[in-house]
Amino acid sequence: MQNLTDQYLQVQHRIRQAEIKFKREPDSVRLLAVSKQQTNTAIEHIFSHGQRDFGESYAQEALGKIDALQNLPICWHFIGPIQSNKTRILAEKFDWVHSIDRFKIAKRLNDQRSENFKPLNICLQIKLDSEDSKSGITPKAALELATAISELPKLCLRGIMAIPLKQTSLTDQRKSFARFYEFWLTLKAHMQQQSQIDTLSMGMSNDLEAAIAEGATMIRIGTSLFGQRKAKE
Ligand SMILES: *Cc1c(COP(=O)(O)O)cnc(C)c1O
Repeated sequence: MQNLTDQYLQVQHRIRQAEIKFKREPDSVRLLAVSKQQTNTAIEHIFSHGQRDFGESYAQEALGKIDALQNLPICWHFIGPIQSNKTRILAEKFDWVHSIDRFKIAKRLNDQRSENFKPLNICLQIKLDSEDSKSGITPKAALELATAISELPKLCLRGIMAIPLKQTSLTDQRKSFARFYEFWLTLKAHMQQQSQIDTLSMGMSNDLEAAIAEGATMIRIGTSLFGQRKAKE
């Protein structure tokens, strides 16, 4: 477990250094520990160092972990593609869903969220590059979706999630993150009254510095924190 401790401290160090280097407010970037394909023991270990936000990409896999770790006050984030037959798990077990890209899913989450729970925090997954993955919504459609979601009382729109194409140079990485930042500002202006839009979820193990340079408020780190994931069968 010493490795995990070192990796956790290393990631925290990278975040704090990037905040300084790129003149961000101290502690303004929140670390989401991406624990997909990691064991409960590893999650508990990172938790013991003070980490509270954990991210999962597969609903069924997450369900087992969340139930096993229900005594820990973990804030669970869903960041994977959403199948409509899995929305109940998300509505009942998660605090955040970052990967909303259509109204049908948002409506189901709203209808399935218990009255006794706080509203589910939502980010819209934005796609800017046409050659990008299947997931994500275009900026224009995202503004309409945001307005529609603001009518759903059990959802709270908090911002956007970005998964840009992989780039190797810091300059290229920054260029694409900057475009997401621009859109995030547009969305905030569009939603004026909804001042709870405070989240720009972008940056992973290989590009967290570039994301922080361009205004990320939440970065999603798996590999640098936990080590390589086992291949998913
Ligand atoms: C797996 C995953 C991550 C973590 O990626 P790493 O490169 O391992 O840090 C972040 N975001 C999403 C959406 C993911 O699916």
